[in-house]
Amino acid sequence: MTRTAVLAIHGGAGTILRAAMDPAAEQSYHAALNDVLAAGQRVLADGGSALDAVSVAVRLLEDCPLFNAGHGAVFTSDGTHELDASIMDGRTLEAGAVCGLKRVKNPVLAARRVMEQSEHLMFAGAGAEAFAEKQGLEMADPSYFHTDARYRQWQMAREAGKALLDHDAATLAARADAEGIPHEPIDPNRKFGTVGAVALDLHGHLAAATSTGGITNKEPGRVGDTPLIGAGCYANDATCAVSTTGSGEMFMRMVAAYDVAAQMEYRGISLEAAAADVVMNKLPRIDGRGGLIAVDKHGNVALPFNTEGMYRGFARVGEAPVTAIYR
Ligand code: ASP
Repeated sequence: MTRTAVLAIHGGAGTILRAAMDPAAEQSYHAALNDVLAAGQRVLADGGSALDAVSVAVRLLEDCPLFNAGHGAVFTSDGTHELDASIMDGRTLEAGAVCGLKRVKNPVLAARRVMEQSEHLMFAGAGAEAFAEKQGLEMADPSYFHTDARYRQWQMAREAGKALLDHDAATLAARADAEGIPHEPIDPNRKFGTVGAVALDLHGHLAAATSTGGITNKEPGRVGDTPLIGAGCYANDATCAVSTTGSGEMFMRMVAAYDVAAQMEYRGISLEAAAADVVMNKLPRIDGRGGLIAVDKHGNVALPFNTEGMYRGFARVGEAPVTAIYR
């Protein structure tokens, strides 16, 4: 039987300010998503592993300043960056994760090294950085993660207070207008900006990877769902691969990524039904906002979100990539 190898990616979910839509900005998001999908698709078409495809895709998303991971990550309340990432191999159920990184250029590559080159699953902070450095991974000066757009978002978040209420978004958008800050299609002040990828390869194996700068103005030391296996990332060849984005605290409480796989396994329901139950039913019960991307062993893809938009796309080998932002 020929399988359809497939890769799906996300670049965060959030609220759209319709009044503030900017066609040029929108276009740059589609173009960035397309480039990442094309690169991952090549890996799969060449017979590469799902693990390699998600590593390449997330590394490229980290390098792109449009997304909140790697270069372009959001600021903590101290004005620093603390990056988290995770990866999981559905073939072996091996996984790796890192959190609180300040100097590693590509956190997803560090997570992969943890999985493949250490006897542990998760490294935090200075120890994680020392491990990455010893592994020969590229280190970056903290200034590498600075982008002016995120800096201004942080300034505005600080002025608005920690919790940005819904009605604040309009005020912040007006401020952005006044200061000539280009609008992103999804309101950056109410956007969960993690990036992630899931893939099924030609050999029938699944993998998932997720990477983030976390939440704007988060307290130093705060860690969300992204590096937690089962919450922000999960993969099992028997069921599916999942990567999430959203209000991390709620995704942790729901063990969201694993719940999709568990529902498929225990209830015998489809990927689509399991993913929809988690995102549209269970997470909203505790005010969990965001979405996820998932692929099952048959190549079915689900991209549900309970916000107004989610940067997302998928590409099957031999077919043109599909990208989308809004519903
Ligand atoms: N889930 C991420 C976190 O809580 C945030 C995001 O998805 O943007 O750190």
